[in-house]
Amino acid sequence: MYCDVHCHINSPELFIEAEDVIQRASDAGVTRILIAGSDFFSSKVAARLSREYKERGVYATVGVHPHDAKTVLGDSLPEELTRLAKNKRVVAIGEAGLDYFYDHSPREVQARVFALQIEWALKIGKPLVIHIREAKPKDAKGMSAMEDALKLLRDTSHGSLMFHCYAGGLKYLPIINELDAYISIGGPVTWTKSDELRQVAAKVPEDRLLCETDSPYLAPKPHRGKINEPAFVRYVYEAIAEARGVDIDYLARAVAENAKRLFGW
Ligand SMILES: [Zn+2]
Ligand SMILES: [Zn+2]
Repeated sequence: MYCDVHCHINSPELFIEAEDVIQRASDAGVTRILIAGSDFFSSKVAARLSREYKERGVYATVGVHPHDAKTVLGDSLPEELTRLAKNKRVVAIGEAGLDYFYDHSPREVQARVFALQIEWALKIGKPLVIHIREAKPKDAKGMSAMEDALKLLRDTSHGSLMFHCYAGGLKYLPIINELDAYISIGGPVTWTKSDELRQVAAKVPEDRLLCETDSPYLAPKPHRGKINEPAFVRYVYEAIAEARGVDIDYLARAVAENAKRLFGW
């Protein structure tokens, strides 16, 4: 009954015990798990896991994380990567986007590789999973990853979009609604001191809301600081249901419908 629309069972932390992680998720009522790729290798592993654990509702995304944007040389995506997207279990492209917090790739390279993936997703008719992380306030240099990403999206033809682990605050909700994009909320909603993410969780239109763990990162309360896994997604649902003043089963049904509409599973 629960969907975890963004996790990394293909990460070193979770991959070594993938079978147990997926079993625990099934036991916790997680019926759909979307494993995100972040470079060619992790995308390939995600696609493989999605085939191997088909009966457990596992699916994959393939793409290039902004951290790895610098590995894309020239002005097109490597064919070995784009070929992976032909797999039926691959239901989305990404995670793609802009990360000004770590700046593991130069910002102009991140923008170029993000644009290539917007185009790729549109061309093959699969949704795009977007990762945005802002710079630390002290070295922001006046640049905003969210503003740059929204500008790019508004200026470019694109297909369906999902902002994963949304942390953009209330300010951008109107523009995101205008783009008709989905918003996925993760573990921070269970522990963040600022109330803004809970306000966002309350305000996202019911037919555009999704939930995720982003595991192994960002474990929700009461597992904060530990290795996160899809079985913990229920805590995220609980916090969002509380913020919206709805029953958790009602929320789970709405999210499941949204995920089905977006990913076609
Ligand atoms: Zn991400
Ligand atoms: Zn991720």
